[in-house]
Amino acid sequence: MSKVKLINAARILVGPDLEPMADAAVLIDSGKIAAVGTRSDVRAPSGAEIIDLGDATLLPGLIDAHLHTFGVDSTRLHTLATEHESYRAARTLSELRELLHAGFTSARCLGSTIGPQVRRAIDEGFAEGPRLKVAGGFISSTSGTWDSSGTPLSIARAGGELADGVEGLVLKVRERVRQGADFIKLGLSKGGVHDRYHAWGDDPLNQVVSYSVAEVRAAVDEAHRNGLKVSAHAIGEDAVKLALDGGIDVIEHGYGISDETRQRIVAEGKIVVTTLSQIHYHRQAYDKFNYPEWEREVYERHWVYMLRDFKRGLKAGVRFALGTDLVGAPTHPLKAAAMEFVLAVECGMAPSAALRAGTIIAAEVLGSQAVTGSIEVGKLADLVATRLDPAQDVSTLLEPAFVMKGGETVVSA
Ligand SMILES: [Zn+2]
Repeated sequence: MSKVKLINAARILVGPDLEPMADAAVLIDSGKIAAVGTRSDVRAPSGAEIIDLGDATLLPGLIDAHLHTFGVDSTRLHTLATEHESYRAARTLSELRELLHAGFTSARCLGSTIGPQVRRAIDEGFAEGPRLKVAGGFISSTSGTWDSSGTPLSIARAGGELADGVEGLVLKVRERVRQGADFIKLGLSKGGVHDRYHAWGDDPLNQVVSYSVAEVRAAVDEAHRNGLKVSAHAIGEDAVKLALDGGIDVIEHGYGISDETRQRIVAEGKIVVTTLSQIHYHRQAYDKFNYPEWEREVYERHWVYMLRDFKRGLKAGVRFALGTDLVGAPTHPLKAAAMEFVLAVECGMAPSAALRAGTIIAAEVLGSQAVTGSIEVGKLADLVATRLDPAQDVSTLLEPAFVMKGGETVVSA
């Protein structure tokens, strides 16, 4: 196979601002972008492989800034604590292959104990999937975001995700570094003390924070010392304030907040990851999977404030990155990740802004903006093509016509 490739397309969205260029071409050498320009400007050397995409639009490979490589049935997430890791790895690798074929050349796993080894299998070429940045296991306080009171405490502790106190958090961050995490994920909000659905909580406006500022700062300092960013699961005013006070780098979910806190997010330039798909797909699954009435009510409440604050955030100038929070089939299949673009636009984001939020801004969240996230000379040839112009109709992203990762064709035109 030739290591020099030339891709021709009717339209290429070039650079971090996705500037449309008509009758354009990209030259690829050894997996990287060597030249971008009009067809008359970019010539293929003899022997190059020519890929002609016809009327299609070529854009940077899509990036999901928030998903989970759980590898268990999404309707039985409690089995995360008991299911064999070898089964989970096989299952999630199959789903990650589908995600890559759906146009996502990079993704970020916000919590799964097998994430580092799954990333390794993909990087070493034993499995097909997006480039991954992984948190490894969650970090939760005892009684915090992911600590269900239904699990005996000894079993919860054995899972290795609970950490309390300044020293406990420093140690837990060091364990994550040792396990190969690319960044740290902390849970800062939980439902009320007697909440029925712990991680999300009955009421997004009345979430209880799960750590003190001192604990968060200790984790952030230790992570930064190791060159790792920290992401926070933060829903509700107090949790998002805690994230800001504690120096968290990226805010996940980030709704149920006041205008004052929103202004702080804007002033401090923090990126908020959207996760609209998570509740969207629960809503799609209510009837088919017989969700109990109370659980539907919880998601309906979250949906209201998630949409409200996404819209308010757009007006206020919050920097959003697109992340789905997909956790796997059957309710939240990773291959459905492009729906996040459609939902963001339905909620008022301009299509061009959504495309940036799911490419270059998401790359910034991953810490990968120097190597991917836009079509620029020197970056990896991570590319996707759509039949229609996605800046006019983002739903065309749901069925990509062509996908390339690092110069290797994944889906042929
Ligand atoms: Zn998540």
